[in-house]
Amino acid sequence: MRNFAILCLTASLCLAVARPCQALSIVVDYSADAAADNFFSLRPLAKAAVDAAAANLSALLAPTNLTAISPSGTPNVNAITGTSGSTSVTANWDYFYTNPSTGASVTVASPSIASNRVTVFAGMHGTTLGEGGPGDAGVSLSASGFASQLIAATNAMQAASNAYMNRGTGPVLGTLSGSLTIGATIASFDLSYGPMIGTAVFNNDTNNNGVPDSLATLDNFWHYDHTTAVAAGKNDFYSVALHEMMHALGIGASDTWSSLVSGTTWLGANVKALNGGSGANLIDPGGDHAMAGLMSTSIYSGLSQQALMNPTIFTGTRTDLTAIDVAFLQDLGYAVAPVPEPGSLTLGFGAAAFLLLGHRRR
Ligand SMILES: [Zn+2]
Repeated sequence: MRNFAILCLTASLCLAVARPCQALSIVVDYSADAAADNFFSLRPLAKAAVDAAAANLSALLAPTNLTAISPSGTPNVNAITGTSGSTSVTANWDYFYTNPSTGASVTVASPSIASNRVTVFAGMHGTTLGEGGPGDAGVSLSASGFASQLIAATNAMQAASNAYMNRGTGPVLGTLSGSLTIGATIASFDLSYGPMIGTAVFNNDTNNNGVPDSLATLDNFWHYDHTTAVAAGKNDFYSVALHEMMHALGIGASDTWSSLVSGTTWLGANVKALNGGSGANLIDPGGDHAMAGLMSTSIYSGLSQQALMNPTIFTGTRTDLTAIDVAFLQDLGYAVAPVPEPGSLTLGFGAAAFLLLGHRRR
């Protein structure tokens, strides 16, 4: 009797056998919390709620294929080069994010992010119900050569950098603009970057006295268990986690978002299609949320629900992803998995809400 073994006979066969996972994954990093409050170890139901929010968003965005960012290979985050003749221009990128437990800015000098991954750092800090947003980036540039070739070399660097740092799809999170000079020649550049890292921060000073609350106080303020109905008067940890992760993906906090907002009008096709072709009065005057009170339909239950990206959320209420929240993600350039048919979609405006959800403004 023959023994069978699977062998990699050729490179192409290896690739076919060992195809990497193609599903986008939002990974929550709790290391800052572990080094500070250790809240998520002490309250595993809160951690489970954050993980559930990440899992639901990951499932929704599974068809989005983001390329890897790495400090090795060619190009890489530390060396993206454009050349013209004997002139070269090189970009060296850093990332920054907010430590979610201290509020301090953290520099990642040689960022490395696997394909199809966005990392969100979670922690307890501050007096706002929730804060979230994407990280920032910085770039240093070096040029050597001749003035006559500087503009062409800079343009080549810009094209290579934008192709690499925007990760192939999704929104442009931010753009760094400037110019290089050799002699009398000035070469301008606009270098952009895509989704990569972000933060989700949860209120741990609910009486606003500058001191983190006791666990007993937080237990009374937050509803942790995402599998049970939200207790009256409490704030749903899952809903806030989901809302802040949406900001980390660029909702209300990216160049692409800003390019689609005109006053209180949304210009993106997917959202407009849900609203009879009109984007009027869908954006909060602050510019970074859906209009307060905007109603849509839960993608899970099909029931009418306040849109997740409202600037406010009710206590005693769970706010899940709605059809219009998904359409905002599509307008930002994310590919989404088919979602259950929500039946008849209704948009409208509900009553005033009360607790502010913020995000770190960039
Ligand atoms: Zn918000």
